[in-house]
Amino acid sequence: MPRLLQVLHPGVAYQVCAMLQGVVTSGTGGRAASLGRPLAGKTGTTQKSWDAWFVGFSPNLLAGVWVGFDEVQTLGSGESGSRTALPIWMDFMQNALETVPVEEFVPPECLSAVLIDKTSGLLAGPNCEKTITEYFLLGTEPQRVCTAHGRDQSSSVTSPDSTDWDSM
Ligand SMILES: [Zn+2]
Repeated sequence: MPRLLQVLHPGVAYQVCAMLQGVVTSGTGGRAASLGRPLAGKTGTTQKSWDAWFVGFSPNLLAGVWVGFDEVQTLGSGESGSRTALPIWMDFMQNALETVPVEEFVPPECLSAVLIDKTSGLLAGPNCEKTITEYFLLGTEPQRVCTAHGRDQSSSVTSPDSTDWDSM
């Protein structure tokens, strides 16, 4: 029986997982979103395109693809993890997961999901348009509400140090 050892706080692990999901939903791994299931991963490219890779995972399957030569040699101008390795990874994952039901990444209970204004990094106010859900360890959530967007300063969330920046 394998000996299992926890090496990372589950909340911190999920925060990294959420960042790596962002690579697929809105980053250099964006084309993997076409597989139509929750995925996470990271592209990699070394100088002069000597190596290209993509390491990615679904909730239950992880795979890594590396493309390069045995000798130090460029893959060619413009070859990158996204362009060179990711399509191979996508082919593999599509086949490997073909009969596997779509599964969601599930955050642990020690995290809270908070809607954040992308530009200010504060809690999203009612008029913030560019928002993102970020995961925080309980007790570390931002306390101030973004007041930089829109005229309506009303908010259901109050904060002791909220500043009315628009009137300054
Ligand atoms: Zn805002």
